[in-house]
Amino acid sequence: MESILRKSLLYRSGLGFYCVNHVQGCRHGCLYPCYAYMIAQSHGRIRSYSDWCQPKIVANAAELIKHELNRRRVRPGNIHLCLSTDPFMNGFPEVTAMSLRLISIINSFGISCTILTKGCLPPEMADRSRFPLNNQYGISLISLDENFRKTWEPGSVSYSERIRALRELHNKGCRTYVHMEPYPTPNILQQNLREILEAIGFADRIWFGRWNYNNLVRQYPDYTGFYSRQVSILHSFCPDNGIECDV
Ligand code: SF4
Repeated sequence: MESILRKSLLYRSGLGFYCVNHVQGCRHGCLYPCYAYMIAQSHGRIRSYSDWCQPKIVANAAELIKHELNRRRVRPGNIHLCLSTDPFMNGFPEVTAMSLRLISIINSFGISCTILTKGCLPPEMADRSRFPLNNQYGISLISLDENFRKTWEPGSVSYSERIRALRELHNKGCRTYVHMEPYPTPNILQQNLREILEAIGFADRIWFGRWNYNNLVRQYPDYTGFYSRQVSILHSFCPDNGIECDV
């Protein structure tokens, strides 16, 4: 895997929370399209989609995060991995190893992490001697249909494998969540939200969001009514199953 060096790692995102992105690019190559890909291309950090799908790890990420947290008088309460890449990228054990190292370092400063992936969450994150804080472990999941995944998230881990890894952490007492965004309208994919919710009904929290990335959604008649109905389903399912719901 290629590597790069950076001058800084920790930053506060436009969404208001602190993040680290210790890889440039992402093998998952989502085609909604990926917002991080569009930003990287517009800023000239990558040349093309195939360039984006050949990720480069930030070789000095561990040294940077230690340095940046050491020099701060006021430290963030939580750091998110990742906003513009995937911390458990399919097929890149180097990325997984670096992510685990960074989470362990961040926890050693008394800072918790939220983690979000379309890869496979490693079971060792349940090891409290290595990851002592109440981190939150999440997967992105908007369907159970593997043909849909192969079309829109071609390099990612299968849905069943994502859910299995999340459930394993849940069974070991970790706090888990599912990020359901960008949820497709029926002209993109016909599916039953309740079936997806049944598959992830063990999670502690579900975050639901619309497909905002291109005009396909607006081509579906009454797409606002469709999303209102999905939110009603969530508002009925989540409280019944003890799940926090963010829509
Ligand atoms: S997993 Fe996330 S960062 Fe990677 S391509 Fe998909 S949307 Fe972009």
